[in-house]
Amino acid sequence: MADKTILAIGAHPDDIEFGCPVTVRNYIGQGYTAYYIIATNGENGFKKKSMTRQERISVRKKEQMKAASIVGVKKVFFLDYKDGFLEYTDELRKKLTMIIKELKPEIIFSFDPANLEFDNINLNHRDHRTIARAVFDAVFAAKNDHIYPDRNGKHMVKQMLFFGAHKPDYKVDITDSLQFKLDIFRCFDSQFPNYNNFAAFLKENIIPKDENGRYYEEFRKVDVVQISY
Ligand SMILES: [Zn+2]
Repeated sequence: MADKTILAIGAHPDDIEFGCPVTVRNYIGQGYTAYYIIATNGENGFKKKSMTRQERISVRKKEQMKAASIVGVKKVFFLDYKDGFLEYTDELRKKLTMIIKELKPEIIFSFDPANLEFDNINLNHRDHRTIARAVFDAVFAAKNDHIYPDRNGKHMVKQMLFFGAHKPDYKVDITDSLQFKLDIFRCFDSQFPNYNNFAAFLKENIIPKDENGRYYEEFRKVDVVQISY
């Protein structure tokens, strides 16, 4: 693995679908290979109470894999942390760093660690805040020889694109793929059983749009610059 790889990282199944599925698919269309990492299995964000924890985990993993395959993602790494309890640990940062060193992605997508506005109970979910910080720090650790040395050597990611940003500065026009973005959520039946209502809500209230009726995926862009002197 080398050039032309991208990696998107979420805390739960469906996080990446809110954030950047069309942008990821666009890169795949340009010849990039895409991977996902999902830190928890999302087993506690579940509407039905009748299933066991293991059953809920199984459903959510299957839903995520289906959504990823529709986008054209090569592999989904599940880190299997407990939903709602994601902790910023050295272990989490190390796992992320090792995958980054293995895949050597040019671009990484995840939540924005700078969004600490706490004005949105869902977006500012504890697990989202945690994964955002850990991803940012793993990008640093991956370009360092000594923090987590391993056989894959170090790797410098070129760019981080953070979704869920409070101050986005980069946007991708997804108007022509809007239906694709909405349809992806059909994969997550456990989350959105009333799909038609949800899709209408998503289109109206969640997906950013401008006064001309164009729809976007928005990011805060951070170029990773190696300071040399
Ligand atoms: Zn989430």
